[in-house]
Amino acid sequence: MGMKDLFKTILVKPGAKCRLSEYDPEDISLCSGKEAARDEMAKDIKRLAELQEVLYAEDKRSVLIILQAMDGGGKDGTIKHVMSGLNPQGCEVTSFKVPSAEESDHDFLWRIHKAVPRRGNIGIFNRSHYEDVLVVRVHNLVPTEVWKERYDQINRFEKLLSEMSVVILKFFLHISKEEQKKRLQERLKDETKNWKFSELDLKERELWDDYQQAYEEALSKCSTQWAPWYVIPANHKWYRNWLLARTVVDTLESLKLSFPVARTDLSKIHIK
Ligand code: AMP
Ligand code: MG
Repeated sequence: MGMKDLFKTILVKPGAKCRLSEYDPEDISLCSGKEAARDEMAKDIKRLAELQEVLYAEDKRSVLIILQAMDGGGKDGTIKHVMSGLNPQGCEVTSFKVPSAEESDHDFLWRIHKAVPRRGNIGIFNRSHYEDVLVVRVHNLVPTEVWKERYDQINRFEKLLSEMSVVILKFFLHISKEEQKKRLQERLKDETKNWKFSELDLKERELWDDYQQAYEEALSKCSTQWAPWYVIPANHKWYRNWLLARTVVDTLESLKLSFPVARTDLSKIHIK
């Protein structure tokens, strides 16, 4: 399967209704196997580092990668593996938690805008402004009229960023409810993972269907030409990492990045 077809199957088509039941979290069909994935992934991680260097040197655009998932969906693991080759100097990860008092006193995009990567940099969001139409909606943290407006506000905000040369990629790491159970159980069993366990996650798990519905609406309404959503089947970690790396590398390749040319004739310069 060519690259174009590959991305077509995971891209949420702008304007189309996204039904998560049509995406199998177990899917591994786009890759020829685990071995091949490992080799390709190693190449992609190297390539990503090269592309990052040109992005940094060019200093014209920035790249924003947004990760969203249910608890245990693998946001942390994805960042750890896929971004392992990046130069920390040109890369920032921001994790969005429950808004602080100061953040809550501003509009919901205030803290987001401040964290948008500067020119030449790659920024990764572990959660994002989408929480304001996910957890906020599911728990009725603001009135319905308020969160309903946010899809459009988000689209306009992301359009503005893209006009300011921010390249936006959004990934929903799609796991099954069964897989979430396994991963939460792992956090209970494995001493090195105990710290990740939160009883709150069990409460959220009870709201699984509400969350899936909220995700469907966010993905349907906010996948745009300028900031597309991708659904990554994420029950298999190796596949999730491979597919996400492939998508990021392919997007960066399509930017046709290039090192800036010297502004003066360097051949005339002699260093004594
Ligand atoms: P974690 O990612 O496990 O550290 O958890 C962060 C928590 O912050 C999650 O429970 C999110 O749902 C919550 N969170 C993030 N953004 C918001 C928001 N805008 N409003 C309310 N809760 C949020
Ligand atoms: Mg957590």
